[in-house]
Amino acid sequence: MKGIKADFALLCDEDFTILKEPALVFDEKIVEIGEFFNIKQKYPNIIFNELEKNTLLMPGLINPHTHLEYCASSGLLEFGDFITWLNSVIKNRDELQDRISDEIIEDKLKELLSFGTTAIGAISSFGLDLNPCTKTPLHVTFFTELLGSRPDSVDILFDEFKQRLRAVFDKSSQNLTPALSIHSPYSTHPILAKNALDIAKKENMVVSTHFMESLAEREWLDKGEGDFAKFFKSFSPYSKPFCSGMDFLTLFKDVKTLFTHCVFANEKELDFIKNIGGSITHCPVSNRLLGSGKISFQKLKKMEISLNIGTDGLSSNYSLNLWDELRAALMLHYDLNLNSLAKELLLSVTKEAACALNLNEGSLKVGKDATFIALSIPKTTKENLPIQTILHTKKAKKVYIKGEEIDV
Ligand SMILES: [Zn+2]
Repeated sequence: MKGIKADFALLCDEDFTILKEPALVFDEKIVEIGEFFNIKQKYPNIIFNELEKNTLLMPGLINPHTHLEYCASSGLLEFGDFITWLNSVIKNRDELQDRISDEIIEDKLKELLSFGTTAIGAISSFGLDLNPCTKTPLHVTFFTELLGSRPDSVDILFDEFKQRLRAVFDKSSQNLTPALSIHSPYSTHPILAKNALDIAKKENMVVSTHFMESLAEREWLDKGEGDFAKFFKSFSPYSKPFCSGMDFLTLFKDVKTLFTHCVFANEKELDFIKNIGGSITHCPVSNRLLGSGKISFQKLKKMEISLNIGTDGLSSNYSLNLWDELRAALMLHYDLNLNSLAKELLLSVTKEAACALNLNEGSLKVGKDATFIALSIPKTTKENLPIQTILHTKKAKKVYIKGEEIDV
């Protein structure tokens, strides 16, 4: 067993406990956490690693939604409006794929660890990120994504999807969990989605989907109108939505799902998401850059819907650093109480994200995996710790995954 001591610990538990002068005893799991004075007496044979002044322990960060296959897209895409952005993705599809390589993704994964991220949800459209994800010490929930709208090519698309999924199962390990992504209600035919979700149910896989990201999506699904109508009619004059928002959500009633964005979801849809035990993944920078506005934090809180925060991909962000994302969320949700929001945000990238992805981490609690980080923070008080931690952290000082220190 090992021991570590710091000035503060953010447990990220239900009560948002903050300990002063804490010590952690751990092997692969957390064996004990409490005040150093008491713990040292209980474990006299452990030599504690006493970290330098102004160091904080907290669970590793969890980024439940990113697209690693798009991590070489800097500068290429157009921001400001969702459909403009989507057209730029389509136009630059070949270059985006040409730019990506195993080495670039491996570097990004290393960078993620240095920020203090210990688990990610990787949305994989093509399977190009599978190999690098098998080599990283990060825990990867690998969401094989299904997309396809033409009913006449449903069988071919589904076979290709199953092939990619099989490759993920072949590589699955303690660090890589197969999962499934249905791209969105406007891009994945319900027949395809239903077939895939039957597999998710059978294999007990976590599911992710994009839902109600833009006003264009809302107008298209509600009335077959708006900017998406123009977009789809350029492919076929007979295009119409496959289903309503509620029809789409109903497909997910028996699977554990992370619904990403939901900026334009209505109360009935949010209520359904809550009732089926779904969570919402909020990507504030992506929403701002693609002209989607912002989700109502107050509404979600009032409805008691579980909220996690992701960076989305570098196709709609400038950074995969969750600390940047939390700072952006602080600024974007300027109308909320700063200190309460700081606590909610820290929980959204630890406890709430772990719960959404079924991970045994995200809180410093006995029995959880000893997956935690140490951060250098400015000299501050217990009360100011959440906000000061978000404002001043760019990288982690130390990273432990399942009790092993990772070189960052
Ligand atoms: Zn996404």
